[in-house]
Amino acid sequence: MGFDKMGLTEPILKALIDKNYEKPTDIQHSAIPHILKRKDVLGCAQTGTGKTAAFAIPIIQLIAEREKRGTKPVRLRSLIVTPTRELAIQIGENIREYSKYTHIKHAVIFGGVKQNAQVDRLKGGVHILVATPGRLLDLISQGYISLNDIKIFVLDEADRMLDMGFIHDIKKLLNLLPKKKQSLFFSATMPKNIVALSQQILNNPVKVEVAAVSSAAETIQQYLYYTNRTSKKNLLNHILKDRELNQVLVFSRTKHGADRIARGLKKEQIRAQAIHGDKSQNQRQKALKDFKENKIRVLVATDIAARGIDIDKLKYVINYDVPNVAETYVHRIGRSGRAGDEGIALSICEPEENEYVKSIEKLIKKKIEVIDNHPYPQTDKPMTEAEKKEWNKEKQRRKQEFFANRKKNRRR
Ligand code: AMP
Repeated sequence: MGFDKMGLTEPILKALIDKNYEKPTDIQHSAIPHILKRKDVLGCAQTGTGKTAAFAIPIIQLIAEREKRGTKPVRLRSLIVTPTRELAIQIGENIREYSKYTHIKHAVIFGGVKQNAQVDRLKGGVHILVATPGRLLDLISQGYISLNDIKIFVLDEADRMLDMGFIHDIKKLLNLLPKKKQSLFFSATMPKNIVALSQQILNNPVKVEVAAVSSAAETIQQYLYYTNRTSKKNLLNHILKDRELNQVLVFSRTKHGADRIARGLKKEQIRAQAIHGDKSQNQRQKALKDFKENKIRVLVATDIAARGIDIDKLKYVINYDVPNVAETYVHRIGRSGRAGDEGIALSICEPEENEYVKSIEKLIKKKIEVIDNHPYPQTDKPMTEAEKKEWNKEKQRRKQEFFANRKKNRRR
């Protein structure tokens, strides 16, 4: 079924033509009709499946139908809560594009920047608000936002939200929202705590699920390079000698690591930038823009910073380290091969990470092809004392960073 058979109105269809969307993705196909019928939806889908449009398009349409053009004052009718500023910005950009032929007004708010511009925009009146939890609660407490007129509430990336320690903020928010409303709940994974949270929010929801996280990676070709810790840098340079890899997202587990990798690449005359939580909002936006415009070839990102990255047809993802949580691997490689396009994911694995590969292969239910004709194969040479010392330091750093992040996210 095409978009034109889904009961969408002309202004929306026109915007989708401008976006060159030919047909709905699976999640859009299964979610849009239910949302238009004002049903609650529990969506199990990760970024890259087209889930933003799956909720944004029907929301715009429902509100445009309900709120006649020129009605004053403009009331806030839909709230979309998402964990990171990058995601918030991305959702905002999508809403802007999908709603461009309607009279629907929206705003995006997130922390880490001054609030004035955001408050000015809110004062002008908006129908849809995209927000991260901390700034949202902050502006509510200052009296700039009222949730009394909300008709549609979206909780996006719920699993990430809980990972980032936002559960208390979410609970506070739920108390501020009107009891009677339509709720849409999206999460890439559905562990027990997420199911429990969804039950608090949703009323008799329709469940829509696309490619469970374990199988989401089907269109992505995956390869594994086994090497030693000390050879990773050289191996990455070796891989990047192939000019085919012209736009590459490299994942690093830590912020320090991301900076180090970017520095190393620059030394090799490879245009690279790092993005992570310690970079300012402007630095991150600039790096992302440069990457999208092919001004830099490699973007090195941590998991959280990368969460909102949406680059059309990003083909290559490299895992500089193999994540210890298998779902993280699937999220990472899901940044390539977006909306059904072909993607290629390469992972560089050191001996300490070999065991992680097993749990990833268990989750994705297939073996990752190993590339062994490269100059830096893994040896079972035990680590030298110096390497051991460095590895212990690194472990300590990762631990500290993990706790620092957790603390920061709780504060947000
Ligand atoms: P999302 O999962 O919302 O992050 O979307 C992933 C990417 O797919 C974005 O770049 C969207 O612009 C794109 N996209 C969403 N829906 C479609 C569609 N029906 N056809 C083609 N691309 C789409």
